[in-house]
Formats: sequence, structure tokens, C-alpha cells
Amino acid sequence: MSSAQSTYAEQPTRAAGSPVGLPRLLAGIPAHGSLDLAEHHSLHGPLPQMTRHRRRRSELIAEIERSGLRGRGGANFPTAQKLEAVAGSRGRPIVVINAAEGEPASHKDATLTRALPHLVLDGGELAVQALGASELIVAVNESAIAGFESLATAIAERGTSARSSARIRLVGVPDRYVAGQETALISHLNGVSALPTFTPPLPFQHGVARRPTLVSNAETFAHVALIARHGAHWFRELGTGAQPGSALVTLSGPVAYPGVYEIECGAPLGSLVDAAGGLSAPARALLLGGYGGSWVPAEHLDSLCFSEEQLALYGASPGAGVVVVLSENACPVAETARLARWLAGESAGQCGPCLHGLEALATSLETIAGQDAHAATRERVEQLLALVRRRGACAHPDGSARLIQSAIDTFESEFDEHARYGTCERCLAPPELPLMQPRRTRHLSTRRSSLSPARQP
Ligand code: SF4
Repeated sequence: MSSAQSTYAEQPTRAAGSPVGLPRLLAGIPAHGSLDLAEHHSLHGPLPQMTRHRRRRSELIAEIERSGLRGRGGANFPTAQKLEAVAGSRGRPIVVINAAEGEPASHKDATLTRALPHLVLDGGELAVQALGASELIVAVNESAIAGFESLATAIAERGTSARSSARIRLVGVPDRYVAGQETALISHLNGVSALPTFTPPLPFQHGVARRPTLVSNAETFAHVALIARHGAHWFRELGTGAQPGSALVTLSGPVAYPGVYEIECGAPLGSLVDAAGGLSAPARALLLGGYGGSWVPAEHLDSLCFSEEQLALYGASPGAGVVVVLSENACPVAETARLARWLAGESAGQCGPCLHGLEALATSLETIAGQDAHAATRERVEQLLALVRRRGACAHPDGSARLIQSAIDTFESEFDEHARYGTCERCLAPPELPLMQPRRTRHLSTRRSSLSPARQP
């Protein structure tokens, strides 16, 4: 299996055609600024015309199904199934490109929207055509100024050449961990609040304005744009049978060149670290899938491969393509306590077990990381983990519990050391895991910014 991967900083500009190998999504990506429409067309060619019949399945959906594309937002759901569900619902659909990344260690969608906005918009436009949708909404973090501006410029550029009559709206989303979740995003777009809601109904049933709504993340739409041009067979030339194609990964921690990389699905993670210039300090462990993900000891780095089925062997998953390397210099107990405090701060505060359970977990972990640890506190953490799992409207408590449980299992000896001797000298080292400042209720507002209604129905 090929293990090619590449960094956006090193991409040569590729001429239009049918590229084999990598880069695909990141082909021609500029180090600064973004590709304009003319550059985008000279690289990838024009958007193909895909047929849509009222009674028959759309050509795009059939091709996406053949490609085996799965969503790159973390849930790994088959994209064709999502499209099909929206197409089969009553009412004129709405398409939402979700480029809002609440995960502090993920920058892939921000990178795509900042540098390659037309590739993402192409995918959205194809979905609009395939579904006969009336509106395309692009949701980005309020703080992602560069992505916002780049998308606004790209939407204006496409204004006169667009094939569909769908309106395009660019909407800011609060910088909260849970705000990018599908139901929270729908709630925000409906002018309520960026909070997850209980399901059903799912967005394909009642989404924006109670209309059937397709929500997929920005990277998924970029893949759709390339599959429509080059076909399902081309897409499957990379990756595994169960997980074809390539994926974007945000790699951070002690590597020479942290950043966003494109990796073949199923490729060894060791080759990703090599592409990033190798480790700049001895590694203790890798956090896979983000802050709702799992730790894997660094000794497994050479045998880890980037796919659902292969990471599952280590109790992990690719999630939204986040890989964080933790160095030997860091204290994993102190880092876990810091992360637990941040995750507790990111609870939307509307489900009791999440609000109170995550707070109590953070406090117990801080006790363990500090001077007052004793065995009973560890037992208390285990009890609390059982209390928060599957007890929220969204996946936040489950993800937090998974991460904390994984830390306790992976760093068992370090937790034991802390229980016996209190703080260690590594506790004094600067924190390594990237976090955003906790943002409380002021971000739970209905604030919504809408730019560039470039096309009116
Ligand atoms: S589980 Fe937590 S984050 Fe999710 S909706 Fe409930 S309170 Fe909010």
C-alpha cells in the first residue's frame, strides 16, 4: 500500500487533468492567500454537468455511492446515504457546508476554506444541483477571519457564473467545542442558539427552516468536487476497500513541521510523522481523533495506520483527522486534568450529567494531578465516568469520558506515581495540548452573521 502524504507547504501547482496519487485536495494550495476562480479552473477544470431526474436517482449520488466516500467530520457516515436521505424527504432541501471547527487541534477545514474556497463551494454547488436545493449555507467559525474573507470573495466571484439559482449564505458560528455539531449548527441557523438538541428529528427530516437539510463538513464537499470530476474509480485508487480515498490530518506536537497534511486512508502514521520532518522530541503517546478521541502509546507509532478498522485495533479512530503527539517532557496526568477542565467549560450546560459530571471529573483529576491524591479519588473518577456516559443530548460527555478513560488506561503508571508521590517535575513543564479559552454563556446567543447573499432565487 502506498503511504504517500504531503504537506500544504510543499505542494507543487498541478495542471488540470486526472491526478493519480497525492496531493488531491491540497493540489496547488498556495502558502498564502487563496486560489481565485481562474486559478482553480486551470488546476481542476470546470465543474462537470451532472444530470438530475425528478424520478430517477441523481448521477452525482450514484457516483458518490460507487466511490464509497464517507464524511470527514468525525462520524464517518456514508455520504451517499446522507444525500439519499435528504433527496427522499418532503420539501425543498437546503445544503449546509459545515466548516466550523470547535476542536482546538483541528485546522483542516479552516485551511481548505482559507486557501481553496472554490473546491469546497464546488462540492456544495453539486449537492445543490443534485438535490434541487434552494439554498447553500456555508458555516465558519466567527474567529476564522481569513476563511470568512476568502469565502466571501469566492462567492462574489462565482456570482455571475453560477449554474444554479440557489442563494448562497455565509454564516458565522460561535467558537465553541459543541457549536459545530450538526444539531447545534441547525439550531443556530434557525436563530435559536448554537446548542445541540436531542434527536430525532435529524437534519435530513427537519433541519434549517424545518426543511430537509444536508449537513456535511467542508472536506467532504471538497472530495465530492473531485469525485464529480474524476470519478469513483479514480477516488478508489487510493485508500482501503472500507475507507477509500485520502483524508486531511492536522498534525501537532513535537514534530519539525506541524500542520495540515493529506494522507492516503490506511497509510502508516509513521510516514505522516516522517513527512512532517520527524519527531523533534521523544514521544510519549499520540492522541488520535481529537479531544473526544483516544490515546495510544508512542511505541505503537510504527504499526498504526490511518483508517477506522486499523485504529480500532488500538481502541482509537481517525475522528475528524486530528493527531496530537505528546512528548516525554509533558506530564500526562497534568495534561489530562487541564483538558478535563477545558471540556467541562465547554459543556453547553443544558444536561445535568454533562454539566455537573464533567465539572466533578475535572475537579477530581486536578486533585490527582496535585498534591492531595489518594486511591479513593481514582475510584471517584471511574464512578463519575460511568455516570456521564450516554447521558447527554449530544456526544460531548461520551467523548470526554472516552478521552479521560483512555488517559487513565494509557498512562496507568504515571497516574499511580501521582497517587503515591503527588506532583512530578514534569508537571512544571509548559502545557503541550492546544486549547482555546473556555467561552461561556455569552457565546450561547443567537448571534448570526450573514454575508454575501450572492445569488437570489
Ligand atoms: S450533553 Fe452537554 S454539551 Fe451536549 S447538549 Fe447536553 S449539556 Fe450540552
